[in-house]
Amino acid sequence: MPPATANCFPMLYIVPTPIGNLEDITLRALRVLKEVSVILAEDTRTSRKLLDHYNIGTSLRAFHAFNEHAVVERVVDELASGADMALVSDAGTPGISDPGFLLVRACVRRGVRVECLPGPTAFVPALVASGLPCDTFFFEGFLPHKKGRQTRLKYLAELPHTFVLYESPFRLLKCLDELAVVCGPERSACVARELSKRFEEVKTASLADLKEHFSKKDVKGEIVLVVGGKG
Ligand code: SAM
Repeated sequence: MPPATANCFPMLYIVPTPIGNLEDITLRALRVLKEVSVILAEDTRTSRKLLDHYNIGTSLRAFHAFNEHAVVERVVDELASGADMALVSDAGTPGISDPGFLLVRACVRRGVRVECLPGPTAFVPALVASGLPCDTFFFEGFLPHKKGRQTRLKYLAELPHTFVLYESPFRLLKCLDELAVVCGPERSACVARELSKRFEEVKTASLADLKEHFSKKDVKGEIVLVVGGKG
């Protein structure tokens, strides 16, 4: 592996963007997005709305799960020959259940500097607001929908510390049921919904009580599920 080229360009900036509330973006993130030559974006239309809100005219280029394998080396070539770029996803921190890992790994291997700005990500506010132990935790992200799902659930159920899942509102009730089977219905958990948005809801209770609560309503929005560890 070539040595990292400390303190000189080129540079890839990983820039976290708001998960709901547009005020949740740092001054540094805005400056970097203004100054780079191009912004790689998961969805250029989504990112254009954010840039327009902050009067940032930097050009956007698509970089998403469907083209990242094909374009990653070309992007690193451009970075290596002097371009400064930023990577954003639709929301939160790129690389966290979003594209980013392949590009960062390729940059690290080629000696292109990577700087990840601190900023929004959905699992941190969910974990901290849940009231479940957050000194040690396990981030799972999205469970597989079919193959391997039960294996992962059984693995998670045995962990001694809090674990965190990303889940769609359409699968929330099914997921709470599945967790109740492997963890027991009395295990403490938290559903954090629509964080930083108008209808934010953070509810901590047993898996059985959460199932009852969310069965009574039409579950909408984005969800983080936090589950207490075994014992
Ligand atoms: N990169 C993002 C991050 O740093 O958290 C995660 C992207 S992942 C494709 C999207 C998932 O994150 C959603 O399905 C949901 O589980 C979670 N999420 C994103 N925004 C959220 C919000 N405002 N409230 C609760 N969960 C959210």
